[in-house]
Amino acid sequence: MSLKQLGSLYREVILDHAQNPHHQGELEHVSHFVTLENTSCGDIIHLQLEIDDQAVIKQVGFTGTGCTISQASASMMTDAIIGKTKIQALQMAQVFSNMMLNKECSQSELDQLQDAGILAVVVKFPARIKCATLAWWALQKSLKTDKGA
Ligand code: ZN
Repeated sequence: MSLKQLGSLYREVILDHAQNPHHQGELEHVSHFVTLENTSCGDIIHLQLEIDDQAVIKQVGFTGTGCTISQASASMMTDAIIGKTKIQALQMAQVFSNMMLNKECSQSELDQLQDAGILAVVVKFPARIKCATLAWWALQKSLKTDKGA
């Protein structure tokens, strides 16, 4: 996919996240972590979460390397899930994967995803769907295992 094929607003938001990723780096206190790779593109994400005893995501950090879409998606995801409970975050991951399957999502579901909602445009570029979804898969995997995998 060429990013030029995206609308200019989408392209700007995606590039901004990819070039200046939010919550990039390692956390001091880690309760959950996971590493996941998208072999079809070569994207790798190391995701760390700090979840308190109320099951609220206090802090998120990620490192790794990858294409613009994967980096932007990870940045958008971290923004969206901080302050959410584990259950809310898993619901958001489900909404994101429904969006990538081109299933109908309600406006309030999409609003919850914040900037990540604009990655709906990636559906038009099937080769990049795994890039966009990698961060959310990592989130699901880390939340379903304690102390990472
Ligand atoms: Zn990629």
